[in-house]
Amino acid sequence: MQLSCHCGQVQLTLATPPDTLTSCNCSICSRYAALWGYFDPTEVSLNARADSATAGYSHGDKYLLFYHCRTCGCVTHTLTTDKVSEPRIALNFRMATEPLGESIRIRHFDGADTWQYLD
Ligand SMILES: [Zn+2]
Repeated sequence: MQLSCHCGQVQLTLATPPDTLTSCNCSICSRYAALWGYFDPTEVSLNARADSATAGYSHGDKYLLFYHCRTCGCVTHTLTTDKVSEPRIALNFRMATEPLGESIRIRHFDGADTWQYLD
């Protein structure tokens, strides 16, 4: 499965699509309107055309870096920082190059308040 920013500088590839995706209502995810799929970083291949293709943004406790393409601005993925013992990558499935299958369930996470799934 392939994900790409709009201009194509940042490409993400994974072997198996996830069963579920997460829509989070926290202050940053709601602004990005992202749809996250979570993986072990070893499951994902990140291909950026240059090291400088992405820029990371971190806020608050700085457990996560939100990456976007420097050229077209699309938010492509997040990575845990070294403050987190088990690294995770989250891919923004709004970048999917093919329509998402009906079989992928979208869950709603209340990151703004209770920090729990609402469904
Ligand atoms: Zn781009």
